[in-house]
Amino acid sequence: MGASPQLEEAQCNQYFASKSFLYKTLPHKSGPKRNRMKTLPQIDGGGDTTPKPLFGTAPDQLKLLMQSLGQSAYRATQLKDALYRQRITSLDQITTFPQSLRESLLANGYTLGLPEIVQSAKSIDGTERYLMRMADGETVETVWMPNGDGGERGDGTEAADEERDEQSNEQSNEQSNELDAPAARPDLRNRGTLTAQGYRRATICISSQVGCAVNCQFCLTAKLGIRRNLTAGEIAGQVAAALNRNHVKIGLDRINLVFMGMGEPFLNYDAFMDAVRLLGLMGIPESRMTVSTSGIEPAIRRFALEPIRPKLALSLNASNDLVREQVMPITRKWNIQALLDALNTIPLGKREYVTFEYVLLGGINDQPQHAREVLALLKGYKAKVNLIVWNPGPGIPYTQPSPEDVERFHKSLIAGGIPTYIRRPRGRDIYAACGQLKRTVDAAPPTPLVEIAPAPAS
Ligand code: SF4
Repeated sequence: MGASPQLEEAQCNQYFASKSFLYKTLPHKSGPKRNRMKTLPQIDGGGDTTPKPLFGTAPDQLKLLMQSLGQSAYRATQLKDALYRQRITSLDQITTFPQSLRESLLANGYTLGLPEIVQSAKSIDGTERYLMRMADGETVETVWMPNGDGGERGDGTEAADEERDEQSNEQSNEQSNELDAPAARPDLRNRGTLTAQGYRRATICISSQVGCAVNCQFCLTAKLGIRRNLTAGEIAGQVAAALNRNHVKIGLDRINLVFMGMGEPFLNYDAFMDAVRLLGLMGIPESRMTVSTSGIEPAIRRFALEPIRPKLALSLNASNDLVREQVMPITRKWNIQALLDALNTIPLGKREYVTFEYVLLGGINDQPQHAREVLALLKGYKAKVNLIVWNPGPGIPYTQPSPEDVERFHKSLIAGGIPTYIRRPRGRDIYAACGQLKRTVDAAPPTPLVEIAPAPAS
């Protein structure tokens, strides 16, 4: 979409209504070529010293770069490993390269180009929110959510499934070890983010755009409007920066990714899918990724054709078009039925569901008739529902639902046969929870974020 000025609601609606919006964001040709990384930086070994980020460059482009510098093909493999496997933090760390080659890269204007964490805030629940600065000074937010404290059980996420599986394994191990001396058993009570199997788990919530044009009425990010799309390197780079900060070893530690931060990934489709492939190079398979969309119907249909793709979540948030148009004006462009029809084109794996995210807003979409309508909508779909109790934010005109309404809604969907989970809010105290991400430097009071100490282990 390029750099657009902040869009007020009327402009935003006009934007969605325009044909150019569709063509600008969603190339409508399909076929094998669409899976090539095409939004990545182009190589240049010809003496141009304009800063050019290496992180985000596709393997075939790295090959061309090395060729242009008179190097053998294996140097491209070494560079790819250094960027994506080792996650180097400076070009000096490419120890497989001779000094002269590193200097040649620098002389030609190549930089690493990873986003820089310029601020962080830590919640009492361990969640960390990072403000990441890109090379041009634009900033986005990324959230690191360590799992393993038991809180994610039942929240309907990948981490929740693992947590449940491990809990049942641990219980059966404990039962079979009943005669062991207590000292021989692992103490699971204070394990923090370390699992009984010895690896750490975490989920990283990634942004795909600087701001967002979709204008969901319950979301703080919407207040920013859209400034620009992120590149594939900037999207995957958030993950690299968060992994480096937390000393994560892919392969030993288990990382899940959710594209649920700032922006609508399907309005930056090519860069988003290129980032998925880069993240694969970093050792994170697409099966550990979930992308959430507000409902960009043509992009859902395109996504359905991808041979390799993350899991999909649709941000439903209403039980009928009337309510959804108020809460998510984008519904005027693609209504609920159009979205459900598009979802039907996705070939689901055996254990795969389409997740429907449903933010509960007090008195707006949380009443028994809404639950009945949701059941009617999802009848026959391989669906699961994540209920999210709305996270308050300044200037957002909604109230939280009562605990009784949440419970009743939850029970109604379960009674109707839909697997339904209440998502546990993470990092609410630091504005890192769902719908709360907002560029701190632009929009929050101009005080620096405070590092909040985690609660002492009990
Ligand atoms: S909820 Fe997502 S799609 Fe909607 S305005 Fe916020 S960031 Fe954009």
